[in-house]
Amino acid sequence: MLLDRIRADLADLEARSLKRARSSLDTPCSPHVRVAGRDLLAFCSNDYLGLASHPALRAALQEGVERWGAGSGASHLVSGHYAVHDQLEARLAAFVGCERALYFSTGYMANLGVLQAFAGRGDTIYSDRLNHASLIDGALLTRATVQRYPHADVAALERLLAKPASGQRLIVTDAVFSMDGDIAPLTQLLELAEGFDAWLVVDDAHGFGVLGPGGRGALAEAGLASWRLLQMGTLGKAAGLSGAFVAGQSEVIEWLLQRARTYVFTTGSPPALAHALLTSLDLIERGDTLRAHLAALIDALRSRLELSRWQVLPSRTAIQPIVIGDNAETLAVGRALREEGLWVPAIRPPTVPPGTARLRISLSAAHSFDDVERLATALNRLEARP
Ligand SMILES: *Cc1c(COP(=O)(O)O)cnc(C)c1O
Repeated sequence: MLLDRIRADLADLEARSLKRARSSLDTPCSPHVRVAGRDLLAFCSNDYLGLASHPALRAALQEGVERWGAGSGASHLVSGHYAVHDQLEARLAAFVGCERALYFSTGYMANLGVLQAFAGRGDTIYSDRLNHASLIDGALLTRATVQRYPHADVAALERLLAKPASGQRLIVTDAVFSMDGDIAPLTQLLELAEGFDAWLVVDDAHGFGVLGPGGRGALAEAGLASWRLLQMGTLGKAAGLSGAFVAGQSEVIEWLLQRARTYVFTTGSPPALAHALLTSLDLIERGDTLRAHLAALIDALRSRLELSRWQVLPSRTAIQPIVIGDNAETLAVGRALREEGLWVPAIRPPTVPPGTARLRISLSAAHSFDDVERLATALNRLEARP
């Protein structure tokens, strides 16, 4: 009975072309990968600075294993917390200009942990409609009232905040939106948080390492600091490894350490990773050349695309979506690219709103101008001759 239900549901996914499948890579993370015996030029990864396979980072990870062993053996609050975790947290805090930081195993867990530490039954969470799934799931888990506001709409958020609400308030936003590549109105959001005495949680998964001076992230770029800010950054994207952190004022982070269930009730991440992440931070901090190359690639792509029916979204980040609209056409274009050895993910509803199916191009400092030229040429041709 139970199995029949699953079989029917899987068949239904298949029938509606919604069944997802993984591509298994036979080569390390890079724009140039081999999948099922085929060489592909990939525009899919979040490895924005090309650090995931960087020789210095590989060496640091090996060194970390030699120095700290393989696993942590316990949760952080028992015996799974190591001196190198402290070192990493101090480095992260200093880097983003906060008093303290807490290192989590993943960004998904960091977001669940923050929301649940800072909101509960009777409180209200104000969430951008395009926020990442981990923020949506995290908000539901808190049992707080969740108010979703239209994407980046500061006036609509202000109207919601002006209505009376009991308990504490938490405004929650992605810094860089993952399917659109645009940046949240962070300055205005902090003003609203101050005006309405709310916390502001900013998920900078796609900005950390890339935006702002030295890659310090979207908040540093906007010049924002406040005790009411909780800044989340992930370490599996531009930092090239794995994990995440939340930075803020020191008592605020202490509260997070006491209360975040996704921190307390999970095995500490391997100390070797923390050791290697110190090298990631060095590479990010000294990464102006990488960031300048990435910015030049973004400009090159945008200026080389000559599209009329399809819409290149107004993004200045490494996420460069092209909205095609129709699901079937988007899939067909994705397949046609793949036949030419170009790998660009086709994103359809419900991940994006109906009628806005798109190709989601992500660029990396590991791409070359030739790579971008190849992609732009193919897209220009495919739009003209579908
Ligand atoms: C990737 C991502 C996360 C999750 O981070 P992981 O470390 O991959 O779990 C959270 N928020 C946003 C906006 C992301 O893009």
